[in-house]
Amino acid sequence: MTVRVRLAPSPTGTLHIGTARTALFNWLFANRKDGKFLLRIEDTDKERSKPEFTENILEGLEWLGLNWTESPVIQSKRIEAHKSAIQSLLQKGLAYRCYVSDLELDSMRENLKKQGKAPRYDNRHRDLTPEQEKVFIAEGKQAVIRFRIDDNTSIQWKDLVRGEMKWLGADLGGDMVIARRSPSNEIGDPLYNLVVVVDDSYMKITHVIRGEDHLANTAKQILLYQALALSIPTFAHTPLILNPEGRKLSKRDGVTSISDFKDMGYTPEALANYMTLLGWSVPEGMDERFTIDEAAAKFDFDRVNKAGAKFDWDKLNWLNSQVLHSWSSEQLLKVLEPLWLREGWKAPNNEWGLDLAELIGPSLTLLNDSIEQSRPFFEEPTLEADGKHQLQSEGALKAIKYLAEELKRDSWDGKDMFYAKNLVSKSADLAEVKKGLVMKSLRAALLGRLNGPDLMTTWSLLARIGQDLNRINRCL
Ligand code: GLU
Repeated sequence: MTVRVRLAPSPTGTLHIGTARTALFNWLFANRKDGKFLLRIEDTDKERSKPEFTENILEGLEWLGLNWTESPVIQSKRIEAHKSAIQSLLQKGLAYRCYVSDLELDSMRENLKKQGKAPRYDNRHRDLTPEQEKVFIAEGKQAVIRFRIDDNTSIQWKDLVRGEMKWLGADLGGDMVIARRSPSNEIGDPLYNLVVVVDDSYMKITHVIRGEDHLANTAKQILLYQALALSIPTFAHTPLILNPEGRKLSKRDGVTSISDFKDMGYTPEALANYMTLLGWSVPEGMDERFTIDEAAAKFDFDRVNKAGAKFDWDKLNWLNSQVLHSWSSEQLLKVLEPLWLREGWKAPNNEWGLDLAELIGPSLTLLNDSIEQSRPFFEEPTLEADGKHQLQSEGALKAIKYLAEELKRDSWDGKDMFYAKNLVSKSADLAEVKKGLVMKSLRAALLGRLNGPDLMTTWSLLARIGQDLNRINRCL
């Protein structure tokens, strides 16, 4: 049997990290089992679904490297299949029309609440006679369609993450609405649990892997599989992603969309690596840094935790820096160039760009850090307080002045590093100061401040674009 799994996002928002992590676990399992990872766009909520969200979701998955097979199933196009399943349930007497109004449902809920009980529908229209129905219809009432759930039914499944699961029909809130209100002889818009079952069966899904917030849905869906005589897939419910305080990660925690992570300068490699660790513990001997292909070779639900996974920015940042530090200058330059371009900057030539990438690469945590770190190589810096203070220290200006004069005479092209080192020593000797003081002062003159990457490379890069001497002279 070929493993077939799916991600079934609702395009009512951008790709959320929780959905992306579900996608990732599906993808890892499919790849581990030489199976197929499929997509279904659950766009039946007409008001909230938007094509731009579908686009954002597909883009996000592609960016993370979670490639799918077959074209995505569009749920709204399958409404006839959903309705015919409902029709068959009605015919078998497993579903019925319920005319209870929203007002009546509200008061039912209120009463239960007063008694300290959980809200549920009391199944009062389960066995209406045709005459009773006629009266409701004559009153202009519209019916929802409900699926019978016997209180005494017991639902069991073996969850790949959570083990033996058992639910009682009585805990599912009464007979379940499977189609929205509509004139009584029509079937209204089919609802989530019903359509998921019909579509998962149509797509021949063998394993349903999704967040644990769907546990109650799974219990309801199993009853629908049985009622429709469809074969029941295997289920795996993954732990939720929690914020550092231990609550479900939400929009209030700031960044939650994959596109936001991308905009902040995270790499897809690091994010996918990190999301895998949100719930999966690596087998012994495996490094916590891996590619998704490496993880897929080892992925197993035995190592997926039941407990929620706390989101840890430090760990994600660490992984991101590790990825960036492992890149070659060529790789880095490819992603830096568009960022530079956005700022209106362009490297004078490829070699210079590669050298700058190599210079700043080791200090990057996020790709976007590169903007501030590249800025002094494209724009003249302002002299900051620490730089100014440094240039005022005893002997600094004398040394720098000498260095500038020599530099002007020799018109250094930034290539011969021996020349540069020698010039620093000579300037120190002449001004009777330590070499370190000359270096710090030179850095202040070139960058306007005291911190920054390797000085000699910085100087060389600036010299190669004719930007060293004029900066030094400006300070003088
Ligand atoms: N559209 C549902 C969601 O995004 C799908 C849940 C499922 O996987 O069945 O939560």
